[in-house]
Amino acid sequence: MNFFKKLFVKPQTLELTVTSSSGFHLRPVAQFVNTAKSYKDEIKATFNGKTVSAKAVNALLSLNLDKGDTFTLTAKGESASQALEKLKHLFDSLMEQDIETVTINKKAQDYEASSIKGDIICEGIAIAPLYLYETKQSYTPKDCTFNEAISLSITELEDLYETHKTQSNASIYLAQKELLLSLSAKKCQTLESFEQHITQECQILKGGKLEAKIADYQDLLRRVKIHLGYSYTFTPPHAPFILLADDLLPSDILTLEDSNAVAVILKHTSPTSHTAILLRASGLASLIVNSNIPDRQENIQKNVIVDATAGVLLLSPTSKDLKKAQKLQYLQTLDKSKASSKRHQQAWTRSEKRIYVLANVSDIESAKLAKDEGAEGIGLLRTEFLFTQTKPTLSKQVKAYESIFSLFTNITVRTLDVGGDKALPYLDIPPEDNPFLGLRGVRLFHTHYEILEEQLHAILLAANGKKIKIMFPMVSTVEEFTKAKSFTKEIAAKHQIDISNVRFGIMIEVPSVLFLMKDFNKIVDFYSIGTNDLTQYLFATERTHPLLKTDTLSPVVFSAIDNILKQTTKPVSICGELASNTKAIKKLLSLGLNTLSVTPKLIAQTKESIRNI
Ligand code: PEP
Ligand code: MG
Repeated sequence: MNFFKKLFVKPQTLELTVTSSSGFHLRPVAQFVNTAKSYKDEIKATFNGKTVSAKAVNALLSLNLDKGDTFTLTAKGESASQALEKLKHLFDSLMEQDIETVTINKKAQDYEASSIKGDIICEGIAIAPLYLYETKQSYTPKDCTFNEAISLSITELEDLYETHKTQSNASIYLAQKELLLSLSAKKCQTLESFEQHITQECQILKGGKLEAKIADYQDLLRRVKIHLGYSYTFTPPHAPFILLADDLLPSDILTLEDSNAVAVILKHTSPTSHTAILLRASGLASLIVNSNIPDRQENIQKNVIVDATAGVLLLSPTSKDLKKAQKLQYLQTLDKSKASSKRHQQAWTRSEKRIYVLANVSDIESAKLAKDEGAEGIGLLRTEFLFTQTKPTLSKQVKAYESIFSLFTNITVRTLDVGGDKALPYLDIPPEDNPFLGLRGVRLFHTHYEILEEQLHAILLAANGKKIKIMFPMVSTVEEFTKAKSFTKEIAAKHQIDISNVRFGIMIEVPSVLFLMKDFNKIVDFYSIGTNDLTQYLFATERTHPLLKTDTLSPVVFSAIDNILKQTTKPVSICGELASNTKAIKKLLSLGLNTLSVTPKLIAQTKESIRNI
């Protein structure tokens, strides 16, 4: 577009209404901004007469958008209408998916002593003395510039995201990173101006629905300051304690997890704050109590009861109350730990059918977690998530595979399944109109042979004679499999590696395989059903589409699985999300499946479901 045309381009507008009860808060805002930034056009948001850039997290947050608020999105530029359309779809799906508010029903309990009512963050019962949250601050200048402190904090948040990637709360770290990027883009060159900015942002948020996000801003400030030499030490007691604080910063929760804290009471936070989400993930019984509570350490030496199932705090419980709470605590722990305590045991149905529960993992952390959660092997190693930033060297790959392989005896490793919604920055796939129908999975053997050659070489070296299964994704024809297998054989021959220990199989995720089973039966050693993609391709509905939703429990999917199981002469397992869906497990077993591969955190629950069938 020439310069003059550009000058006269009319801005396009769109109205968006916040429908989530949590408002338009940090995490969805961070995702929204991320997409807006991918367009060159000028994109702005207007609400209540205030217009801000829709490409900056803190600017958008300052609109304080709450449920029911309608704001105007304006885009100006060459791809304005495209940008608005994409942002509308994204916004709608963000609102739909925003299930952050967890309403926990209080279970009434009658205690003798008077109690203070609170909002439950995380259920649980605890008996211990209260302990006031206090940090000791000190400052010893470090040899670190302000800009270095910002970069170090960004890397730290990226690392935190990587280590918590398998948990639902990981996006908090990504959102904080976005927030920090947008704050530093404000050209704050010194700690003073950065601090000033944060104070201003917090003042805007104060009193608004998004007040809880102030903790995120303060957390970022503290993170940056720590790199500059400030230290904040919280020394938790050695005996069990119930922490009482006005509010905590999200980063405090990690410290608490390693302490003797048995419960947490916060005075000023909301059930949807990031602190609350992290507390929920940590499993610590926690309540929000707004009333006055003694705030001097010497006043609170005796045991109190936090009943975060009934939503009450008892500061002076009677001995009968204490006995009651102890009993409730015991019953609750029994229930909760039943599934968890049996996680390392085998899973048998009531009719004594042995079912194997394996794990879907993507790196060493999730593999270790899987081991700890009772996985009987790895049913799917998604290798595309192992190295997401830069192309790894052969030896780096070998090391990564070796460390994962060393944890289990039953291992299925899938070759790179890049393409579709999964991209790697170092793998150049030209833009496609329909990426899910394009260069994906095993199809990369045609175009990116070197990458797959190196990966297979690394896998074979890491296996070093150990029995492993290599699985090819996105296979739709017999030739794709035979070619991929002979490529692997050639690589082995070139490097003189014996591969008699290796079995070869395919993911069943493209419907054509259902019509080719007779041929595949002759050449594969095993199958694994990938219901995520199989459902997508059966219904021709993009799995990440923001508007189109497919019924994952559709009879069509079960009928496809039935069809596979009736035709197969080789072992079949299932590794799509359906395998851990408690509404599907019974049906899957009745069709004849005996191996389910699920996300590590759902292993105990899946085994317990099997035991009740
Ligand atoms: C699947 O498609 O069901 C599957 C397990 O693979 P992914 O989700 O990695 O595509
Ligand atoms: Mg798949």
